[in-house]
Amino acid sequence: MYNAKAYAVASAASPFARTTIQRRDPTPHDVQLEILFCGICHSDLHQARNEWSGMPTVYPCVPGHEIVGRVTKVGSAVTRFKAGDLAGVGCLVDSDGTCPECQSHHEQFCPNAVYTYNAPDRHTGKVTYGGYSDSIVVDERFVLRVPANLSLAGVAPLLCAGITTWSPLRRQGVTKGRKVGVVGLGGLGHMGVKFARALGAHVVVFTTSPAKVEDALRLGAHEVVVSRNAKEMSKHAGSFDMILDTVSAVHDLHAYLHLLRRDGNLTLVGAPDEPHAVSAFGLIFGNKSLSGSLIGGIQPTQEMLDFCGEHGITADVEVIPIQKVDEAYERLLRSDVKYRFSIDMASLKSA
Ligand SMILES: [Zn+2]
Ligand SMILES: [Zn+2]
Repeated sequence: MYNAKAYAVASAASPFARTTIQRRDPTPHDVQLEILFCGICHSDLHQARNEWSGMPTVYPCVPGHEIVGRVTKVGSAVTRFKAGDLAGVGCLVDSDGTCPECQSHHEQFCPNAVYTYNAPDRHTGKVTYGGYSDSIVVDERFVLRVPANLSLAGVAPLLCAGITTWSPLRRQGVTKGRKVGVVGLGGLGHMGVKFARALGAHVVVFTTSPAKVEDALRLGAHEVVVSRNAKEMSKHAGSFDMILDTVSAVHDLHAYLHLLRRDGNLTLVGAPDEPHAVSAFGLIFGNKSLSGSLIGGIQPTQEMLDFCGEHGITADVEVIPIQKVDEAYERLLRSDVKYRFSIDMASLKSA
């Protein structure tokens, strides 16, 4: 074991503070990374504040699952990485590798999946610690290759926000000639717009905020609809192949089901605390489907990163020092970020 610097919360009500955590020495199959940037995901905030009853937080908690860094050491059996390579780690650091979910590249649904933070750590017997840290050690199978041509601060959010939006767009076969809607323009939505556009679709953003129209167009939308305007909404009735809904508050899904063409799909990636109301009629008339989607497996995540390298896609980020993480959480709650915070881990050296 060795000591790593980290930022942790000691309880649900505590601010973040600098601490030292123990990481394992790399085993033959492990890759050790120096973490350069870590994105801030809304899940980090929920977990740090113990807001998920199904996943009680073990303190101290070190969140962070949008990790990008440079390989510092590899185990003797590692074949895909060497010291000096750029690499990324997302929401998962381990799984059994043998179940049907793992065999079909859906490791996120493996019954033995290990999440990057606040999950039982098979190596240490404690919990996993995430990316708000200067280094991490991860099994090679869960380490992603990062294209060298991209800005690393903007790569970090691809590891969660990126794959979360990429997976459903790919599952629905989004390609040239398709009409795709993206509801909500936040950390997830802005990635959905970039991907749908790069995949060749005609992209329409739905937002409640007229102030976001200009930004949506800059990010790649062909059209922007202010969703409170019923007349603007009705112009698009029956025309979408797919709508990706990133909003994590309860809202009227029928307004969007109505805009799907026959066999169209509405996929939810936002998760409100309260259930949505859905009438079967909204689905039956037009053979429409309503889906959900959870991050993505390792192979699709690599495919997404390679696509980003080819198309020059990164997240739009505001880079912050780790000392500002509490302030960033408060701003996240007000949606006051365009469009993701990315922590520059060099700031941890002086902490
Ligand atoms: Zn996340
Ligand atoms: Zn499995």
